[in-house]
Amino acid sequence: MTPAHSAPPDELLGCFADWSSAADDLDRPELALTLLDQTPRLGDRRRSVLRARLLLLVGRPADAVEVLRDEAITELPAGARASWPYLVLAASLAATGDMRAYHWLLATAARVEPNPAVSHLVAVAAEHTGDTGTADSAWLSILADHGVATPTSVARFAVAAMTSRDRHDFRASVRDVVRTAASFRHLDPPLAEDPQPVLDAADALCARGDEAGARLLVRTVTRLNPRIPRLEERLRELTPADGTRKHRLVAAALLVGGALLIPLGVVAAVLVAVGRQVWIRRVPIPGLDRTDSVTWRTLRHLRFNPSSGTVNGPKEDKRGWYGLAGLAALLVTPFLIDGPMNRLYLALTASPLASIRSTLVASLVVFLLISAAAGGYLAARAAHRQTQSRRTDRRRMAATRQELTLAERCRCWQSNFLTGGFAVTYLRSHLVPVGDGPIELGGGIRGVVGRCPQTDTLWLHAPTGSAAPVLLRGSLPDSPDEEPDPHFAGPYL
Ligand SMILES: [Zn+2]
Repeated sequence: MTPAHSAPPDELLGCFADWSSAADDLDRPELALTLLDQTPRLGDRRRSVLRARLLLLVGRPADAVEVLRDEAITELPAGARASWPYLVLAASLAATGDMRAYHWLLATAARVEPNPAVSHLVAVAAEHTGDTGTADSAWLSILADHGVATPTSVARFAVAAMTSRDRHDFRASVRDVVRTAASFRHLDPPLAEDPQPVLDAADALCARGDEAGARLLVRTVTRLNPRIPRLEERLRELTPADGTRKHRLVAAALLVGGALLIPLGVVAAVLVAVGRQVWIRRVPIPGLDRTDSVTWRTLRHLRFNPSSGTVNGPKEDKRGWYGLAGLAALLVTPFLIDGPMNRLYLALTASPLASIRSTLVASLVVFLLISAAAGGYLAARAAHRQTQSRRTDRRRMAATRQELTLAERCRCWQSNFLTGGFAVTYLRSHLVPVGDGPIELGGGIRGVVGRCPQTDTLWLHAPTGSAAPVLLRGSLPDSPDEEPDPHFAGPYL
């Protein structure tokens, strides 16, 4: 066995193909391409098709066509005969503007078993040809039908879903928007570590001229998650400052007007209630149309509760209970203050304040009753939040303990990539560093390599810039060196 602190160059070179494949699974085509370009086995057909697909994904379809040409994959077969290399060729040609290849791709995709890899090619080719409708339905299918949730697929799904949100019925629109925003909640790494997919979706919506959709999406995501400053900043950028300021001024003026109506009693209450409904349903928020405005106002009830770690909908509102506590305090207080107030009243008899003692004591009683009601309400709320916060702390500590235990155990046989904080903990707790620090891996990549003490697997902690950290698994040792399959057809078709 090789000593744990070093690895012969051949062993490192043998890992690049698997690191590249892990980066591809992780939805990092740029990194996957750089790693694939370091693999030593140049010139095999399988690698060329993999490379062509990655070139297409990073927006270099002309280079993809070149790579396939070197393997004599140049002409699309007559008729719609599915074979993975030709599907990649068709998608690449389509992305360079060849509409004949695009139609061949669509005709062939329609004949094969529904498959996320083929849908992905269709989506990318359709995006390049400007066929937004087809691209959208392909992305919707990748997530909804095949459950492939990568940062890219979720971001594109969100764009497609927001574009097709209901523009007439606000109830349907609320459902569409919440469902779309919720699709970001189970990403790996989580949004709190990398909110880029939401920012990408917002940018794509703006590029389609749907700033309102971008704004609704970013705001709803922020309401479903703990604070994410980069999303809050994007929301501010999307909000038209001037219009919003004027809108708030008008709302404040109307509130004051409503308050001035109080002497009218019941009539005022009716007028205010009707006015409020008219305002909510009829007056659009600057930058939004009427349906989007009502959706926006309805989603006001949605709130992430940092002390419980859950999202509060209107039903989880506990204000009723707090009010009950306030009422209980109000009912008990007269019994408690009865004696002291009587004594105070008597004590004031001989003082210079004797003439106004009734007014004084009555005012004091009213003040104490109001304070008791407010105090009961606030105390109940504070106690509830305290309990929730303690429960969340306990849960968080248990999760951290569990993560540390899990990170010490070997998962090298289980996953081919790990992301986020867990990846870093796994590197520190389970893997033994290879070399003294980052290793020059070629292609401008410097990465930290760690070895599993149990399976000898080499993991690459690749640089990812501002994105969440990732660990990519290399080849499992002692696995038979796989010969390239001469009938390689890519994913099952
Ligand atoms: Zn291991």
